Amino acid sequence: MSALDQLAALEDSAGFAARHIGPSEGQIADMLRTVGAESLEALAALTVPAGIRDSHLDALPPPVGEHAAIAELRALSERNARVKSLIGCGYHGTHTPPVILRNVLENPGWYTAYTPYQAELAQGRLEALLNFQTMVADLTGLPVANASLLDEATAVAEAMALALAAHKGKSTALVAAPDLHPQTLAVLRTRAEPLGIAVHVTDDAADLAALKPFAVVLSYPGTTGELRDIAPAIAAAHGAGALAIVAADILALTLLTPPGEMGADVVVGSTQRFGVPMGYGGPHAAYMAVKDGLKRLMPGRLVGVSVDAAGRPAMRLALQTREQHIRREKATSNICTAQVLLAVMASMYAVWHGPEGLTRIARRTHLLATLLADAALRAGFTLRHDLFFDTVAVEAGERAGALMEAALRAGYNLRRAEPGLVVIALDETVTRQDVIALDAALCEAAGHERVGLAELSAPARMPEALARRTPFLTAAVFRAHHSEHAMLRYLKRLEDRDVALNRSMIPLGSCTMKLNATAEMIPVTFPGFSDIHPFAPVNQARGYIEMIRRLESWLCACTGFAAVSLQPNAGSQGEYAGLLAIRAFHRARGEGHRDICLIPSSAHGTNPASAVMAGMRVVVVGCDREGNVDLGDLRAKIEQHGGKLSALMITYPSTHGVFEEGIREICDAVHAAGGQVYMDGANMNAQLGLTSPAAIGADVCHLNLHKTFCIPHGGGGPGVGPIGVAAHLAPHLPNHPLVAEAGPETGFGPVSAAPFGSASILPISYAYIRMMGGAGLTRATQVAILNANYVARRLDGHFPVLYRGGKGMVAHECILDCRGFQQGGGVLVEDIAKRLQDYGFHAPTMSWPVAGTLMVEPTESEPQEELDRFVEAMIAIRAEIRAVEQGRADKADNPLKNAPHTAEEVTAETWSHPYTRQEAAFPLPWIAAAKYWPPVKRVDNVYGDRNLACTCAPLEAYQDHPKVAAE
Ligand SMILES: *Cc1c(COP(=O)(O)O)cnc(C)c1O
Repeated sequence: MSALDQLAALEDSAGFAARHIGPSEGQIADMLRTVGAESLEALAALTVPAGIRDSHLDALPPPVGEHAAIAELRALSERNARVKSLIGCGYHGTHTPPVILRNVLENPGWYTAYTPYQAELAQGRLEALLNFQTMVADLTGLPVANASLLDEATAVAEAMALALAAHKGKSTALVAAPDLHPQTLAVLRTRAEPLGIAVHVTDDAADLAALKPFAVVLSYPGTTGELRDIAPAIAAAHGAGALAIVAADILALTLLTPPGEMGADVVVGSTQRFGVPMGYGGPHAAYMAVKDGLKRLMPGRLVGVSVDAAGRPAMRLALQTREQHIRREKATSNICTAQVLLAVMASMYAVWHGPEGLTRIARRTHLLATLLADAALRAGFTLRHDLFFDTVAVEAGERAGALMEAALRAGYNLRRAEPGLVVIALDETVTRQDVIALDAALCEAAGHERVGLAELSAPARMPEALARRTPFLTAAVFRAHHSEHAMLRYLKRLEDRDVALNRSMIPLGSCTMKLNATAEMIPVTFPGFSDIHPFAPVNQARGYIEMIRRLESWLCACTGFAAVSLQPNAGSQGEYAGLLAIRAFHRARGEGHRDICLIPSSAHGTNPASAVMAGMRVVVVGCDREGNVDLGDLRAKIEQHGGKLSALMITYPSTHGVFEEGIREICDAVHAAGGQVYMDGANMNAQLGLTSPAAIGADVCHLNLHKTFCIPHGGGGPGVGPIGVAAHLAPHLPNHPLVAEAGPETGFGPVSAAPFGSASILPISYAYIRMMGGAGLTRATQVAILNANYVARRLDGHFPVLYRGGKGMVAHECILDCRGFQQGGGVLVEDIAKRLQDYGFHAPTMSWPVAGTLMVEPTESEPQEELDRFVEAMIAIRAEIRAVEQGRADKADNPLKNAPHTAEEVTAETWSHPYTRQEAAFPLPWIAAAKYWPPVKRVDNVYGDRNLACTCAPLEAYQDHPKVAAE
């Protein structure tokens, strides 16, 4: 071997793929023996139908190591110009408190957690989200707020859908104020059109009487900064029988009368400026607050306070029956993954600063804006608005171009909202030196002599009548953690209550909780990525654009498709965008009447919800006993709806964890009838390098970068849901009104507020692909399949595995049937899920896609010893079930029914159960080495929904709960 070959071999064996993939060579060999396959390739051949084997991954660049990938991304970040953006439009500079940056955003204990469906091991993030809801409710002046939405523009669109559902009237007219942010108006139009809603942009009260809209959307303050009393407009909306929706600036609300007090029905906005970097557009947490009567219609997740089995306060997701996964085609929203991590950050920003701190930040920002306004006046300009919060609109006329240029030379991006109007939005990062520099730019553009700041008078610019009179953030948590030690310990305390990937595997079927490598995460907080405004001139974002173009081409290689849009900021949004592309395609061919969307009964709830939002009619296709699409039923439905068929939405491998043999036949049948095939790509982790959406015959698919491509779940978001499309759909991808590079001119409009969606987390997926290379990604898929088959094989005989492919193999996940335990011992699947917590594990996906089952997806990142620990825990639980079945354990008082067990009860003076404390808390020997103690016992969902409490304050009220009182 030559020295260079030796070098290459040494470098190869130290590659990232071997770190990302959990099992060692030896473990892989051992596991292959267990599942009965000769090699990884032989296993793939037993699993994936031969007719669809295909890979384009050799188009990917060869892999680099962790340090090289970080250096490459650093260099890309440094190609973005660090100009200070005072563009506003809903995105502002902000200081992320360092204690939050390091201990939340850069902390795997927070960012690798799963969505808090298993409430007992999610009390930490549930508390943080309850703080978020409390903060939003207080600031907006409305009683109920949800735990985050995707961005401000989609939040306004969600509010529109809510209002339409609430209105129940005949009206399909929506009135939107002209001073909404332009991207908000654009997203609103995208979302309104398929629903048959006409958007009228007007602020003329006379129009209300004529249009009789179901809702009016107002801005507070307006996009160019104007601050006005919106109470009359709200009253006028109500007078016309419409709901009043207000898009409000969260920081301004610390000083202003909350819209809720002015009668608003729904208030939405972004919490980005509460410590979350602009990041070229996202991710950030949007918020929504509603009047009490609308809470059951509210989209997204809602955290509520309930009680646990011991009668103590405990939190969990409330009113789950509203959600898309239950309501399916009756849903009015498809939102699933939201923005938990960013909501946690924003809530912690409020905890850190408290009401006084937030008010100080708002006052200071306002004062700087008044100084700037005075400087503009002294320079000889006039102001568009006399009253404003932080945004100054300068009537610059002919000199607008000169002003923009002078400011840019000084290092500032301003917004040229109209040819002669320059808008300058200030924020907490702005200093007096900045105002001095802006004053210089104003004077230069005006050809005027400069005036010192000290000379400026800065009269009040916020009307006394609009001043906030109601206190906010009065709950104790917003006053208790203002020293860094207090904050540090609060964050640690909450983190420790939760199970995240830094503690144990999270075997969530369909959600692919794989490794989120540190090297992938580090670039996210590079300043060159963090501090870029989404509407900054594109020539200042060269690094971003280059990274985006490369990632798009790599995702084309992964899917076999011709084009990719990174704009959708969750899988659900990708589904929606993909269906709109299909719809636009049919229309462009004069077949706009095609509106039937076929969806198998096993589909994820977002599928039918997205189809309805895209203006389609859902027709459900049955599944056979093997979990495959019922081909007979499919053909019958195609026959029935042929000329009207728009699309089939299909998940592959199926949500039952099987590569259906008939997939090509299915796609061919749809195409033959003139339909398009949408593939839900949530299960891409079973495909990469072995087959592809293009190979199975799909026309479009979304990818969940927060599943297959390593973006962490963040406790329920952020996500990125790009879509890939075949060439004929490429002209119909989303675009953006403010950034031409975001998509084709022929596109249908934006689905997200930002041109490239959640751009600042794209480096994660970039780094993953860059470090794995085509061979690494292929091997990851093979090991994902191996790990799933290993778990399925080892649990065989303990738990029936529900579905397998033709050759006896599962794909990358397996479904364990737990329905049989109810008959014999009354043990429910939920009891097993809760009991797993005592063993230190997060439960697999419960009761989806089949009620009474657990769906296990171990991913390639789990080493064999972790799989073995999980398997041992499951086998031990099976023995506990058997004890109940055989009458050796009590039917009601057993470790399963009482799970999970807290430290408090296990160490209490009295212990009244027929099993031992050790059996309760340490059922297997290795548990003691790293015992996870659930902080609460099983949470009572029914009680919580009946006594809904969604903010911090009422916690004390739970002391009156009957179970507590009885103690
Ligand atoms: C996760 C998932 C979705 C939805 O993706 P989000 O990012 O949560 O919106 C859709 N379909 C399937 C099968 C999924 O697993």
